[in-house]
Amino acid sequence: MNLPLDVARHQSVPEGSWQSELVRNRVIVVGSANADLVVAVDRRPGAGETVLGADTVVLPGGKGANTAVAAGKLGARVALFGAVGTDAHGQLLLDSLRNAGVDTALVRTVDRPTGIAYITVTPDGENSIIVSPGANSAVADIEPTMLDTAAVVVGSLEIPLPVVEHAMAAAAAHGARPVLNLSPATEVSAATLAVLDPLVVNEHEASWLLGGRTGAATELATELRTLGPRSVLITLGARGAVVADDQGTIEVPAPSVRAVDTTGAGDAFAGALAAALAGGAGLAEAARQASRVAAISVTKPGAQPSYPLASELGNAGT
Ligand code: ATP
Repeated sequence: MNLPLDVARHQSVPEGSWQSELVRNRVIVVGSANADLVVAVDRRPGAGETVLGADTVVLPGGKGANTAVAAGKLGARVALFGAVGTDAHGQLLLDSLRNAGVDTALVRTVDRPTGIAYITVTPDGENSIIVSPGANSAVADIEPTMLDTAAVVVGSLEIPLPVVEHAMAAAAAHGARPVLNLSPATEVSAATLAVLDPLVVNEHEASWLLGGRTGAATELATELRTLGPRSVLITLGARGAVVADDQGTIEVPAPSVRAVDTTGAGDAFAGALAAALAGGAGLAEAARQASRVAAISVTKPGAQPSYPLASELGNAGT
């Protein structure tokens, strides 16, 4: 099997500060799974108004599922810890996860509707989104034993905040690397921030965390480190990303591509980053690999379908 993201060479007994005598090479994603119901409309309805839209397109989505699928398609050993309902949307999500090689043993099926994102898209490309969390609200604390073989635990915020904070603490306590994609932007405790390695945010989330401060991304990253995380990664869309850790602050450029649809680019980045970290890459190298993967994802429509397989990486976008 061809695993360009340095995953293959770390599937034997690993060495390093995040690993113990157990083979720690799994990515565990703690996050949401949503069915995206997408409808194109000429304009949004006002209060009390009805407008006709195009046919509804139903796609697998949710930040957690997207992140897991991105890592799975790259050949990483990855599981999603989350929840879906017993409905057809839940089955759609489970199928899409499994098709990407994601282990779904930790996805609970609960007596709630699967989470849904109702997305309207207008001709100017703007989205309006209502998220109905449904089963995602039923995600409960992860059992520490589920982290025995985890190298990296990735959280994101479309599930209850205490569950995410618990997962980050449990990861740190059990020898896995806690990575938090703080999206949507949410206030987290100082104790949670302190274990993150890295805290991953986009520019808007970075600014929000710093009380609305704007400025050069390198400065924002340095400033964010003073909030406590061991490392910080700010994604900057077409401009790439900035990484700040004890080694310093570096800029990681994005490959130049023709962007068609940036939906789920942040999740592609998070999944690829986690896959590379689990494979033993350092943070800067993992960010470079994630940047290539996310750049490929924006050249195709949709989120999960746009994520590249390991075999499709080649030298694309470099
Ligand atoms: P989204 O909410 O759309 O998932 P985000 O706001 O969380 O995305 P961005 O910073 O927009 O995150 O994008 C994440 C990463 O995707 C970037 O760091 C970059 O690597 C890649 N990317 C996004 N847009 C482009 C682009 N136009 N060209 C190349 N790479 C891109």
